Amino acid sequence: MAFQVSKLATRVSLSNSVGLISSAENRCPSHVKSVSKFAQSLTERSFHTLCSAGKGLLRSQMVFPKTQWEKVSTASISLLSLKPRGSIRVALGAVGLSAAVIATLHTGTLLAMSERTHLNLHSPNTDWKESKNQLCSMDRENRRKVYKDYIPLEKILVWTPSGDSFCSPHCKPNEELNKKISLFCGDITKLEIDAIANAANKTLLGGGGVDGAIHRGAGPLLRKECATLNGCETGEAKMTGAYGLPARYVIHTVGPIVKDLVGKREEQALRNCYYNCLHTATKNHLRTVAFPCISTGVYGYPPDQAVEVALKTVREYLEENHEKLDRVIFCVFLKSDKELYEKRLSAYFPQACRPVSDIS
Ligand code: ADP
Repeated sequence: MAFQVSKLATRVSLSNSVGLISSAENRCPSHVKSVSKFAQSLTERSFHTLCSAGKGLLRSQMVFPKTQWEKVSTASISLLSLKPRGSIRVALGAVGLSAAVIATLHTGTLLAMSERTHLNLHSPNTDWKESKNQLCSMDRENRRKVYKDYIPLEKILVWTPSGDSFCSPHCKPNEELNKKISLFCGDITKLEIDAIANAANKTLLGGGGVDGAIHRGAGPLLRKECATLNGCETGEAKMTGAYGLPARYVIHTVGPIVKDLVGKREEQALRNCYYNCLHTATKNHLRTVAFPCISTGVYGYPPDQAVEVALKTVREYLEENHEKLDRVIFCVFLKSDKELYEKRLSAYFPQACRPVSDIS
């Protein structure tokens, strides 16, 4: 664990949204005098970002010196619910910031959703099947009343190699396949697509990192549905509804844990994760899928090796099944992962060489 933590601590060149979390949290112990004030000062949008980017919190917990983190945790938290005045409001009373605060604030977002749609996604007592069916039968316009913060597919650019990203190709150029690939840097929980893959653990009951962000964004019904699935083995994939998220479904997969070196077993398991997620998507007629960098966080798979497995598996799957998928999005969260994908995409999705006469 200590090894993993130090590994993570060295990889804190985070993307913008993580930066927001980190800086907010780092300021917390010394600067936040009153959480109420802090809450007021956040816009709803940045608040939502805080709620959904769970990695930041866990990671901060890991990189904080122990005493400082204890200060944050112990200085925290009591939550006072004010009497509803027309709409339900949640006020924070006390100092500090913790997972409990973030989770409860997110409940506030879900409460607001339910007011607009009559869907009670925030309550663990709600029947998840009924809500899932209701959500599945809603058109996009109505679903957008449930999740107001989203990135539609049209805003996710198709990948095109930039000048300095060319490398020797591993595959033949295929423009049809290239059009189906995107590299997106940001929070996977915001994507309004058919399915997002979740780097889950074997219980499927939620955890840290991207898993935590997905469960917070989806709300408690996701955990309820996951609890019916009997967990998931490494490399397998299981699908659920996405509830409060803009995606329609979540495909949960469990990546391999790498302790020292990557062996054949770990490589095959990671390959199975990508393959089984894609297979689950196409079997269910889902045409747009996003992947986080499975196993490269707490599970310790070296990102520079994981990228090769991810790109190779997706390329091979697309070659066989291109008519079943419109877009596969590699959703990276860290600047370092973005750079890795930018560098390696050209190897698996090379551009066709243009005849010299075409180059002006
Ligand atoms: P694992 O346990 O499989 O290693 P982690 O969640 O720890 O899973 O990390 C997997 C990857 O997900 C990491 O590259 C991490 O940076 C990334 N990640 C964390 N939060 C998000 C998010 N909200 N959206 C997209 N990627 C994320």
